[in-house]
Amino acid sequence: MHLDPFELHRPSSVDEAVDLARRFEGRCDYLAGGTDLLPNYKMHLNLRPHLIALQDVPELSGRSLDRLGAMERLADLEGDRPLLAAYPPLGDAVAEIATPLVRASGTVGGNLLVETRCFFFNQSHFWRESLGYCLKADGDRCHVVPQKQKCYATFSGDLAPALMAVDAEVELAHSDGRRHLPLGALYDAAGDGIRRLTMRPGELLTGVRLPAATRGQRGTYLKLRVRPSFDFPELGVAASGVLDGERVVRLRVAIGGAEMRPVRHDALTDALVGERLSDDRLRAFAEAVQQATRPVHNTFLLPDYRRRMVSVFVRRAVERLRPGTAG
Ligand SMILES: Cc1cc2nc3c(=O)[nH]c(=O)nc-3n(C[C@H](O)[C@H](O)[C@H](O)COP(=O)(O)OP(=O)(O)OC[C@H]3O[C@@H](n4cnc5c(N)ncnc54)[C@H](O)[C@@H]3O)c2cc1C
Ligand code: SF4
Repeated sequence: MHLDPFELHRPSSVDEAVDLARRFEGRCDYLAGGTDLLPNYKMHLNLRPHLIALQDVPELSGRSLDRLGAMERLADLEGDRPLLAAYPPLGDAVAEIATPLVRASGTVGGNLLVETRCFFFNQSHFWRESLGYCLKADGDRCHVVPQKQKCYATFSGDLAPALMAVDAEVELAHSDGRRHLPLGALYDAAGDGIRRLTMRPGELLTGVRLPAATRGQRGTYLKLRVRPSFDFPELGVAASGVLDGERVVRLRVAIGGAEMRPVRHDALTDALVGERLSDDRLRAFAEAVQQATRPVHNTFLLPDYRRRMVSVFVRRAVERLRPGTAG
């Protein structure tokens, strides 16, 4: 594997970065920590001739209890006790991402926008060529669901479900202006493993807004993976909320690592508000989330097992919101 040549641009402001992205539209990628993008480039996966490095853009750095800059390193978050105590699912998730070395370079923005994964995609060029490529890079068919013209690559970032559970929003900048939206709306519900985001071409993620309303709320993130030392999630379940005794005051549950995008199950959790969360009610809720989650066979563990683990992990995560448990 080798890295093909590319032209590196080093803007020093958001305006300069988005102008470059407009100039090189369709021929460039933003480069944050490079821990996802550059290994993909080495495997010749969707190469672009221009890379726009974000490390010299001051507006993308800095963190507080209100906001995380897109270029904040995961390792820096890991050491920020007040932040992680304020948003427990974030603390659980960040500690479980990859390895300390990857977290030293990997960033918040890069993790939220990490490329979807599939064992027919994350392979060397030689390997993929021998199989005839696939829709996501260089080919015209899917090896996972061959009868469909759609990609089922899995969203495998850990931060997204954790931040969705605490109602985080993302800030976006484009050469035409700026906007912000709920984090969940960043992921395209009508898309697939290729068209996975609602961002416009050249749009830059500048930061994450953390709402005061969910600050200090109990919460957790539980991750299923093969090797706890560094593997991507085969399933990630985030829960955050408030229980008054047994009664549900507020609840959010988000699932990652299972489908093409992270999904928050608001219709199911809203139906629990005001109700007593008995063991039977919790079991029925967890099974409903499982019913709504449909992994395919494109990661290491079998989809049936990953699916059955959804209800187990949802139950465990929500149990931790009960007062008196280790949340
Ligand atoms: C061995 C290994 C294990 C891993 N395990 C895990 C894991 O367990 N969990 C997990 O979540 N991830 C894992 N990863 C994936 C990845 O390294 C991390 O998710 C990391 O956070 C990516 O951040 P980055 O800054 O390096 O992103 P980059 O690689 O620089 O970028 C990733 C993508 O986001 C785009 N991008 C980055 N920043 C912006 C921005 N501000 N605006 C617009 N676009 C942007 C880039 O163009 C690129 O498409 C692993 C990676 C490796 C190598
Ligand atoms: S799900 Fe299909 S199209 Fe998508 S990366 Fe895998 S094999 Fe390729």
